[in-house]
Amino acid sequence: MNIVLLGPPGAGKGTQAKRMIQQYGIPQISTGDMLRAALKAGTELGLEAKKFMDKGALVPDTVVVGLVKERIQQADCAKGYMLDGFPRNVSQAKTLDGMLKDLGQKIDHVVSIEVPDAELVKRLTGRRTCRDCGAGYHVMFDPPKKDGVCDKCQGQLYQRDDDNEATVSSRLKVYNDQTKPLIDYYQGQSKIRGVHGVGDMAEIFARIVKVLG
Ligand code: AMP
Repeated sequence: MNIVLLGPPGAGKGTQAKRMIQQYGIPQISTGDMLRAALKAGTELGLEAKKFMDKGALVPDTVVVGLVKERIQQADCAKGYMLDGFPRNVSQAKTLDGMLKDLGQKIDHVVSIEVPDAELVKRLTGRRTCRDCGAGYHVMFDPPKKDGVCDKCQGQLYQRDDDNEATVSSRLKVYNDQTKPLIDYYQGQSKIRGVHGVGDMAEIFARIVKVLG
């Protein structure tokens, strides 16, 4: 089963993807995580991507398309995968369709998580991540026991560079202008499975499982 997770930044795509890995036994492919990993490793691609990410802009299509193309052909993707944060515009979606056709594959479902903008700003600016194990927290909704310290591994928590208020509003604008049109694109292929993204994480997960049948 090949799934696209669609939704604005802060909709909970990453969080839900972690649960879906357990439920469906398919890997999560997050282009944002891949770009951050490239940056952490200090690669040329990572440093180039940072210029766009820091502004909340999209990195050039050719960069992310190349990463995804390589990743979906790895052995752990044989039974399917979840694309998280890709495609991000109609041009990427068309390229993906062409790429999958060549590989004899297709997207089966597009899970579209819907959350109002005001809620997203609150969620994104309060997000914190563990530097060591990657666990996610929220200063208001899911705080760690000790400020700035991971409950699971005692690692240091940090705020993503692009989760500050100014960059968050650019990212939301980019989503509304460039990514939201994908809902119509995939609606045209009858693949959209809409999910209300406000509420308890477990509750939202149950909604996803339901729409995926
Ligand atoms: P995310 O972790 O999905 O919120 O992505 C963080 C940032 O990485 C975005 O604001 C973009 O700058 C970049 N990025 C991630 N995925 C893509 C993509 N598919 N196309 C272009 N840029 C992307």
